[in-house]
Amino acid sequence: MTIERIKELRGELDQINDQLLELFSRRAKIVQEVGRIKKENNLPLYDPEREQDMYARLVAKNPGPFSDEIIERLFKEVARASLELQEKANEKQLLVSRETRCEDTQVLLGEVIFGGSEPVIIAGPCAVESVQQMDEVAKELSKMNVPVLRGGAFKPRTSPYSFQGLGKEGLRILKAAAERNGMKVVSEVMSAEHLEWAEDYVDMIQIGTRNMQNFELLKEVGQVKKPVLLKRGFAATLEELVLAAEYIYARGNTQIVLCERGIRTFENWTRNTLDLSAVPILKLKTHLPVIVDVSHSTGRKDIIIPISKASLAAGADGLMVEVHCNPARARSDAHQQLNLEEFARLLEGLELMKKQYV
Ligand code: PEP
Ligand code: MN
Repeated sequence: MTIERIKELRGELDQINDQLLELFSRRAKIVQEVGRIKKENNLPLYDPEREQDMYARLVAKNPGPFSDEIIERLFKEVARASLELQEKANEKQLLVSRETRCEDTQVLLGEVIFGGSEPVIIAGPCAVESVQQMDEVAKELSKMNVPVLRGGAFKPRTSPYSFQGLGKEGLRILKAAAERNGMKVVSEVMSAEHLEWAEDYVDMIQIGTRNMQNFELLKEVGQVKKPVLLKRGFAATLEELVLAAEYIYARGNTQIVLCERGIRTFENWTRNTLDLSAVPILKLKTHLPVIVDVSHSTGRKDIIIPISKASLAAGADGLMVEVHCNPARARSDAHQQLNLEEFARLLEGLELMKKQYV
């Protein structure tokens, strides 16, 4: 008898659940429509006043037995789910989103493919310092089959008294060294003027961590016909990085590689904190290739092999590594740059990892 009664009541509950489900779904469709209209009219999705009114109205009508607090809590959950639905609808419309394009984007620098079957290694010194320095490092790196040479000509330094880079002359030196050794070139620009100069000298434009949210620069870069390496801001969320990429993509430049380069946290045994989860998350959320800068993220050479392995294991499409022929004499980031021997050992280490995986 008792069992029978419970069964009966459960039947009633199931019916109510069905009705609730139908009502939730109807409600969600209306929420979507509201979201669409708000977006069209550039109105914020979240409206705290409206939410407060809604709870007040419900609480005033509360027939019990749930307390007012519980009613508010239940409807807060409904409101949260609704807002998520509206936000998701917006996210879907991002051009860089995986939902807009499900295939991986490949970014091409001549024959070098980011997002292809092989990880791309970008290596070179922190800054371009001299013809001799660049020639020496490019010659050795090309012997090791490194396809892309890096080197800063415009250096974003924390102190205005630190070496600021060789500017235009640095770009010329970098390009000449790369050309002599059959390599492609990536270098950072910090302004529209730099960009104009760099267009003739670099194969890939780098936007550094400090400029990830320099929206005017992003818009400019969006209009050039060169691949872009967009580094994550050191205090930027992944969503902010994705939106920065969208600025570039939306202006017509679809050749974007994202770069995780560490974020600022309380940890001080590394220069930044490498957020490795960024790699698979960015690859899930966007269709763009993702690489990891293992030098600026850690700021130390002694963990570069395991960190590089971990980056590739997490799905990175490439690595950026600072390499200098004589790191002790480097004019910037001296302590984190590998010498050529150390770099060769890193490549060997990565080769070992590949063998283990096969
Ligand atoms: C760089 O790659 O030269 C550089 C300055 O890196 P970040 O912008 O990530 O600090
Ligand atoms: Mn550096």
